[in-house]
Amino acid sequence: MSKTEQDEEMVLKIVQAFASRPDAAPDQIVELFSKLRRELGSAETEGTPAAVEAPSDTAEPIMPIEQAVTQDRVFCLCCGRGFKMLKRHLGAEHGLTEQEYRLRFGLPEDMPLVAPSYSRQKASYAKDAGFGKYDRHATQKAKTTDAEKLA
Ligand SMILES: [Zn+2]
Repeated sequence: MSKTEQDEEMVLKIVQAFASRPDAAPDQIVELFSKLRRELGSAETEGTPAAVEAPSDTAEPIMPIEQAVTQDRVFCLCCGRGFKMLKRHLGAEHGLTEQEYRLRFGLPEDMPLVAPSYSRQKASYAKDAGFGKYDRHATQKAKTTDAEKLA
């Protein structure tokens, strides 16, 4: 668990505890949440004030979703930076899993979070490296499994 995740969890616990008080007003809960996020959080949250002010599961993407995937880059809809693969960036910079990221922006399940050219490179690397080369049947089987995963 990353430090960001730990912080997030702590903030949530504190806010939940506060919210369970009978005299806690919704405004106070939101205010407390924002304050804790500001104090605990880091430069990352400063860059996304909208997320701090409106703690919600959904967010506006920084760019049109259909422009977020190119052959060589997948762009982060949180900050607009492009990567070969988003997973590590999402965890490190935004404390998001791929699943949370998809939910936040309402992305379809089949939207790639890895640049298409990069997936192809990896696939051809595996082939060049000779994985499964000596067992045609095993190669065939692995391909089927991959196709199922992608489906
Ligand atoms: Zn980002």
